[in-house]
Amino acid sequence: MVRAGRCIGCGGCVAQSEAGAAVMRFDAYGQLKPSGSRAWNRNAGSIVGKTCPFSSDAVDEDELASALFPDAPAHDPATGRHVTAYVGHVIEGDYRQQGSSGGLASWMASELLRSGRVDAVAHVHACEDPGASGRLFEYRLSRTEAEVRAGAGSRYYPVEMSGVLRTMLGEPGRYAIVGIPCFVKAVQLMRRCHPRLRERIACTIGLFCGHMKSARFAESLAWQMGVDAREVQRIDFRKKHPDRPANWYHAAIALKNGETRGHDWWPLVDGDWGAGFFMDSACNSCDDVMAETADVSFGDAWVEPYASSWQGHNVVVVRTPDLDALLREASDAGRIELTPVDAAFVAATQAAGLRQRREGLAFRLARCSDPPRKRVQPDAPAPTPQRRRIYALRASISRWSHRMFRIARALRIRTIYLLWARAALTIYHAFAYRRGRLGALVNRLGLG
Ligand SMILES: Cc1cc2nc3c(=O)[nH]c(=O)nc-3n(C[C@H](O)[C@H](O)[C@H](O)COP(=O)(O)OP(=O)(O)OC[C@H]3O[C@@H](n4cnc5c(N)ncnc54)[C@H](O)[C@@H]3O)c2cc1C
Repeated sequence: MVRAGRCIGCGGCVAQSEAGAAVMRFDAYGQLKPSGSRAWNRNAGSIVGKTCPFSSDAVDEDELASALFPDAPAHDPATGRHVTAYVGHVIEGDYRQQGSSGGLASWMASELLRSGRVDAVAHVHACEDPGASGRLFEYRLSRTEAEVRAGAGSRYYPVEMSGVLRTMLGEPGRYAIVGIPCFVKAVQLMRRCHPRLRERIACTIGLFCGHMKSARFAESLAWQMGVDAREVQRIDFRKKHPDRPANWYHAAIALKNGETRGHDWWPLVDGDWGAGFFMDSACNSCDDVMAETADVSFGDAWVEPYASSWQGHNVVVVRTPDLDALLREASDAGRIELTPVDAAFVAATQAAGLRQRREGLAFRLARCSDPPRKRVQPDAPAPTPQRRRIYALRASISRWSHRMFRIARALRIRTIYLLWARAALTIYHAFAYRRGRLGALVNRLGLG
């Protein structure tokens, strides 16, 4: 899986190995990958086949969801099975202010603890000492509401679950886990194989996902703010500002010397999410945007009037009646705000992500000599020539951003990467939005 570029680095295979046989490590591109002894490598196949989220031999999202959510009658190709869907945000406390979107993911995690449904929540925190651990973020177990709240925010940074999954296997209790779609799928696949996980993981909270980035994205942000990545203590990838719409991302960096820096994403050479800079190659073969195997999933409401309101709104896809009752009760009590929406509304909020994961995936699978088994068939439906160019450009930017950054980092010459990235972005914008002089030329030649 690693050699084929289909390992997302979730850590599931390491969690299921004997202690010390394998670990999760950063590779040369700043992506977490498993690394183990020869014996482990020889034997890992039997674990990986059934529980790796990108394995062609593993059960797919549709089959998992139909077994997990028998009471969720509605199946939509974009949202998967669901009981209900909402757009909304938290009203009580400062969840909305601290959260990336409407704060409902952290609120839900807290509510599970508060109501006694779970004893601990596995989710992502900033590392206290990034210098020592070599990582800015990690999965950790929160056992109090305050701990859950401290982990709010979206981390576009590699994290892995081996540590928290080992704890769940070893320590009795009832757990919830928060994750992007492939991580939640890995958890559900492992629950099929390990009765202890099946019993102990009482709730899965999914985050919608466009793609996962390597650790180099955080380093690049630091470079472009004029600081050395080793000086960074903490990054907030999406700091909210009353004078910016929610979809106008602003990154804030806290340095070890106490200084802070901030920068909007858009003017950065790699700040256009759609261009695919530093995307993990596994994301090229993903077909799940909305965490279809999670009990409940949260995303950003990327449609108006919500997208431009600075405070942030969630879209929510609920797949169990129990969680739906919990949300409705809180809404009736005025603690959160929810408006029912249909699957088409939720799909519209993720139009770009769904294009990349469905039409774009079909195109990528058709160009693959040994395509993995996916729910999407190769080349169906065929994209227009313009869309084909965009998909190919995006894949190429992802691949080359890893390589160019590696060269610039090794030679300590930032401009190698920054000049390449600016040129790549200009070409991408010319084809995707017909922007600039190059865009006009693309338009005149009928290429855009
Ligand atoms: C890599 C990535 C890509 C995303 N892409 C999209 C997208 O394309 N479209 C979209 O609508 N939404 C996307 N999201 C989800 C979105 O950014 C918000 O996380 C979501 O809307 C919930 O917001 P909130 O305010 O309710 O959550 P918050 O209250 O901010 O809570 C977020 C919770 O998620 C946990 N968390 C943060 N990062 C990670 C991570 N990497 N892995 C596991 N858990 C994590 C936090 O610890 C916290 O518990 C993405 C998130 C990530 C991490």
